[in-house]
Amino acid sequence: MNVVTRFAPSPTGKFHAGSYRTALFSWIYAKQNNGKFILRIEDTDKERSKKEYEENIIDSLKWLGLDYDSFYRQSERTDIYAGYIKKLIDSGHAYISDENIADSTNADKSGLRSHVIRFRNPKCKIAFDDIVRGHIEFDTTELGDFVIAKDMNEPVFHLTNVIDDHDMGITHIIRGEDHISNTPRQILLYRAIGAEIPQFAHIPLLLAKDRSKLSKRNGAIPVSDYRDRGYIREAIINYMALLGWHPADDREILSIDEVIGQFSLDRVQKGGAIFDDEKLSWFNRQYMARLSDEDFISDAKPFLPDSMNGMQDLLKRALSTIRSKVSSFAEIAGLFDNSADLSFTITVPKYNVNSLLWSKNPDKKLALKHLEFSLNAIQGIEDFTMDNIKNAIWPYAEANGKGDVLWPLRYAITGQNKSPDPFTSAYIVGKNEAIKRIKKACELLAN
Ligand code: GLU
Repeated sequence: MNVVTRFAPSPTGKFHAGSYRTALFSWIYAKQNNGKFILRIEDTDKERSKKEYEENIIDSLKWLGLDYDSFYRQSERTDIYAGYIKKLIDSGHAYISDENIADSTNADKSGLRSHVIRFRNPKCKIAFDDIVRGHIEFDTTELGDFVIAKDMNEPVFHLTNVIDDHDMGITHIIRGEDHISNTPRQILLYRAIGAEIPQFAHIPLLLAKDRSKLSKRNGAIPVSDYRDRGYIREAIINYMALLGWHPADDREILSIDEVIGQFSLDRVQKGGAIFDDEKLSWFNRQYMARLSDEDFISDAKPFLPDSMNGMQDLLKRALSTIRSKVSSFAEIAGLFDNSADLSFTITVPKYNVNSLLWSKNPDKKLALKHLEFSLNAIQGIEDFTMDNIKNAIWPYAEANGKGDVLWPLRYAITGQNKSPDPFTSAYIVGKNEAIKRIKKACELLAN
């Protein structure tokens, strides 16, 4: 069978975790079956559909790398739907019903409208086997003759959804379980248009941490926000794939290819899955930790202040020492802000002589003596690594008082009360800059 899946969002809000997971499962299923994945924008609700949301969905899918083989927009397919509506009326499956439209929004728009198109419900039992939920039965009697279009050019969701899934050859409909209750109507429509009924897989809803439904107001963060915060897309995919599914061996860190290889719709759980932003952040840290220094720096670059442009070596030294302390790339930018931990890397510190003195022993002469030792030691290091810097100074500091030796050194280099330790700081600014800064501090102390 040539598998064809689709993601069919209504562009009525930003693309957030709930719909993203639906898109992901559909995409994975298509990939693992060498099938096709279709993006279909269901924008028949003209009041609520917005272009900016459509763009947000498309941009987010693109950033995540969920590529699709075809793209459709329902608002461009009105003629196709009208053709089906006509056929349904001609074959007696649907009829034009004269009535006042109860829906006030539409009545406002067109007071003249006095009929809708209803489906002639055979009122029967419907059963289908859902890949996730198993056997499901419904009696359609209570649904009555439901509306399928407001007029020939205004079909409603159930109809366009069914026509498109048929027309686009969708074999597997993977969507949120909130659509289970729509399925009986849709099955009736498939039958009426003489279409084969696709397989359904209704996946569990995503829940907020308090187990309520994930919503815009409750924990659902747009994927584009994660992009803007500098998350790694593979981390998001990895985490989201595990919401409602897990591999047989319970491993947590899986590459996209491993997910595609091991995913199985049959093993998707029925119960709701909790979306936990902190856990996602944990995944992101795991993925950041796995990057080489080079990749880490190139991923971090878009988030760094412009003043760091061209400071490739400094950047490399700074990021390699602090990379384990952040959980997103956007956080790194903050480290270079004024008076933040790493601001000394781009701003040469200004300070007065007193701040160079160790608070427990504020002795200028002593501070100068120790700083001159450190200056000499640093000048003598050929291979300026963090270890070599430490080895050159640490024994002396132990012998002469760590605070007395290390405080003036760290302060001379950083001019900050809070910064990485003196060896790391010296390493980050580099040998020449460290020497320059220490010399200046010595001059201050000598006067
Ligand atoms: N447009 C529907 C929604 O956004 C999806 C319908 C479906 O997947 O069948 O909820």
